[in-house]
Amino acid sequence: MFFVDTHTHLYLNEFDSDRQEVVQRAIDGGVKYMLLPNIDSTSIEPLHGLQAAFPQHCIAMMGLHPTSVKESWKEELRIVETHLTDGKYCAVGEVGLDFYWDQTYRMEQEKAFRLQIELAKHFHLPLVIHSRKALDEIIHIVKEMKTPEMTGVFHCYPGSLEQALQVVKLGFKLGIGGVVTYKNSALGHIIQKIGLENIVLETDSPFISPVPYRGKRNESAHIRVIAEKVAEILVVDVAQVAEITTRSAFKLFPSLHTTQ
Ligand SMILES: [Zn+2]
Repeated sequence: MFFVDTHTHLYLNEFDSDRQEVVQRAIDGGVKYMLLPNIDSTSIEPLHGLQAAFPQHCIAMMGLHPTSVKESWKEELRIVETHLTDGKYCAVGEVGLDFYWDQTYRMEQEKAFRLQIELAKHFHLPLVIHSRKALDEIIHIVKEMKTPEMTGVFHCYPGSLEQALQVVKLGFKLGIGGVVTYKNSALGHIIQKIGLENIVLETDSPFISPVPYRGKRNESAHIRVIAEKVAEILVVDVAQVAEITTRSAFKLFPSLHTTQ
């Protein structure tokens, strides 16, 4: 039984003092692959550093995060494109829209998102989408730009059942993390309706720790707690959750096959 943490920021400075141990703990806990979404030009070096330290386990994405879309967004996107041209990445991510923190660059966020969807198409890569207070807008854009081969993850899925059904229909998976362990989370009901085959697991470390680690720094080894909660919700074995979500991750991120 092994897991893929499809979204984890282990290269951030929250892990500077014990990164090796954190990654080793995840590997020992059955997390075979940790997929690393990029944020912006400042995170690329640490991202590459972590991938170089654990090339069998840590796999980089490339993209510009919506909260990093500011005045210099065009230059930032040029950097993303250059890296995608030169390097090997498992996805374009993380990209999307975030209207929660700041709406100053709303138009620019939308332009950057559309351009990065074009990059995903061009490089035949899946999209890892960040959505905060913008899910309807994102679904609208993805629908408009959809091609048959386009796929990806709605990371830390934030929406309703009705929106989840649209996401599945678009050929995307729901990224399920620590929120599923929180009381009053609607995710349990959504997962029961859309089924195990339409989700992938993620921690979003160092953020969104599952219960009983809520409020503390999250790490990829905690993917097991999330898998156990999903198993409880669906009344299946945790091994089955691991198997099916891992299979989905391999299908979504074909470059995992060549990392083995
Ligand atoms: Zn993230």
